[in-house]
Amino acid sequence: LENTILQGLTFDAAAGRLAFKDVRYLLIRPETLAAFQKAVEAELGERAGELLYQGGFTGGSLSARRYREVFGYSDREIVEFMCRMGGEIGWGRFELKTLNASRGELVVEVLRSPFAEAYGPATVGVCHLIRGVLGGLAEGVFGMSVRAEEVQCLAKGDAVCKFVIMRICSDVVFFGG
Ligand SMILES: [Zn+2]
Repeated sequence: LENTILQGLTFDAAAGRLAFKDVRYLLIRPETLAAFQKAVEAELGERAGELLYQGGFTGGSLSARRYREVFGYSDREIVEFMCRMGGEIGWGRFELKTLNASRGELVVEVLRSPFAEAYGPATVGVCHLIRGVLGGLAEGVFGMSVRAEEVQCLAKGDAVCKFVIMRICSDVVFFGG
């Protein structure tokens, strides 16, 4: 199957630089990230997941904005592109399950997450970088803050990793005074 990202990569040997549409990428072993994640978790516990989420969030926001400009994509097109790109850069096979802009809901399943495979068995979801990318993407599409959860994870023994991203309600009614 064709891989439009690999086909579009440019290589600058003098700089040791790979780029797609002039956005730099690097290849890194999943074990490197898993070791980093476990080291941060040993220091910070659950907070580590939120920090990794922030890293993914930044990448997702920047990519969604950049490729929307480059290709002139609509909301749905940029989500579909990012899901296809996820697979093409080796982050697992992304399947868009739900994109409902009016409800502010994005659901994506990822098969064979390299983050989960490298991490090994766990009691909670471990794919914080994917969760962050999808959170950053969704916040750009919905134009509002979101909450992103990995409700199933390969590392927990689930068949796939499943991410549910919900707009955080801004129209909460407060009672009392
Ligand atoms: Zn996972």
